[in-house]
Amino acid sequence: MALFREEHERFRREVRELIEKKLAPRAAEFEDPQKVRALFRQFGSWGWLGLSVPAEYGGRGGDFAYDVVLAEEMPRARSLGLGTSLGVHSQVVTHLLLKHGTEAHRREIVPALVRGEKIAGVAGTEPSGGTDLVRSVQCTAVSDGDFWVISGEKKFITNGPIADYVLALVRTSPNVATTSFALVLVPTDVPGFEASPLRTMGIKASPTGWLKFRECRVPKSMTVGKPNLGTMYLMNGLLRERLVLAVCAVALADLVLQETIARVRARMIFGHPLAELQTVRHRIAEMAAEIEANRRFVRSVAESYRDGRVEGKEICMIKFHVMESVQRVVGQCLQLHGAEGFLEDNWISRVFRDTRVLTIGGGVSEAMKDLVAGYLRL
Ligand SMILES: Cc1cc2nc3c(=O)[nH]c(=O)nc-3n(C[C@H](O)[C@H](O)[C@H](O)COP(=O)(O)OP(=O)(O)OC[C@H]3O[C@@H](n4cnc5c(N)ncnc54)[C@H](O)[C@@H]3O)c2cc1C
Repeated sequence: MALFREEHERFRREVRELIEKKLAPRAAEFEDPQKVRALFRQFGSWGWLGLSVPAEYGGRGGDFAYDVVLAEEMPRARSLGLGTSLGVHSQVVTHLLLKHGTEAHRREIVPALVRGEKIAGVAGTEPSGGTDLVRSVQCTAVSDGDFWVISGEKKFITNGPIADYVLALVRTSPNVATTSFALVLVPTDVPGFEASPLRTMGIKASPTGWLKFRECRVPKSMTVGKPNLGTMYLMNGLLRERLVLAVCAVALADLVLQETIARVRARMIFGHPLAELQTVRHRIAEMAAEIEANRRFVRSVAESYRDGRVEGKEICMIKFHVMESVQRVVGQCLQLHGAEGFLEDNWISRVFRDTRVLTIGGGVSEAMKDLVAGYLRL
């Protein structure tokens, strides 16, 4: 079955109108984390935080294609950061709770996330590293009766400074060689928890934080899934987020290209529009082809995902191949804007800074290539 049906296209029109009227004019405001916090309730009231969450847990009960539509439209808000912040909250945490959480998590926590009353982040990376999590994670959860006592740090955590819950990957055994980690949903009002904001070069609408856990006592009932399978759950959850973020990135590159086409048509050089130079025309045609190929690639993998087939190899391919392509397109579009594109307040320069994270956050390109090589039995 095709990815989108008439009801998805109706939803697309509804979302596009809301984004263009209510969000795009305020894009500059969303560089402030407190404004982003307030936005979650707004997104919740529009139903965007629970598009594919079953109705019994407060969602709209749609399929994954609704998430794809939202991701494709989100760049019209002129902010990749909003899509990133939303993605971690909904695509990672909410769906991990739905899939591996207890019925109490689904009944008591998921509806609050769907309404945007509570905000969530996921914390794997630490100051000691993000790619090699098994060796890098030093954050420990020591068993004490019905509680975990959590100590350690997490760094570069999306939504960290504004989160009410952080789904933390913690080491439950002192043996450093073990791959046994738990995912524990830590309420950020627990004594001993501290979050401070980090200043990033881009996606400023997505608050990034450094978290410290000082002997935080968290009930074991907040463990998500089996206490020794946290890494596996996290890796599977990240596949969904990587796919949705790639959908968003391709749509963003397309918007940037459309704006660049308008610019080269209007900009006069040597008495003619820039668009009449063959090298410019060819560059635009090549970028359009690249975007179209990427769009078909991500939509095709999204269709499989909607049908319950998680194409891990293809999602890792997308994470480096599509994201690197988007960065190239955005860089070339900035070049075609000349000095205007270099101005800090120009949207193209913001997109250039924002998209730099695409080959780092959620798994660096090099690690994705290693994974794909593994799938190819190299
Ligand atoms: C804005 C932002 C938001 C983030 N949000 C979150 C979040 O919400 N939750 C979370 O847990 N983490 C988050 N991260 C962290 C992110 O997932 C890590 O930065 C990423 O996994 C890489 O880890 P690292 O930064 O420790 O880099 P390292 O692992 O130290 O790697 C550094 C560099 O080494 C090279 N390298 C790494 N592996 C290989 C390899 N196999 N082969 C060759 N070269 C290699 C690459 O050039 C890489 O960039 C975020 C990061 C950013 C920037």
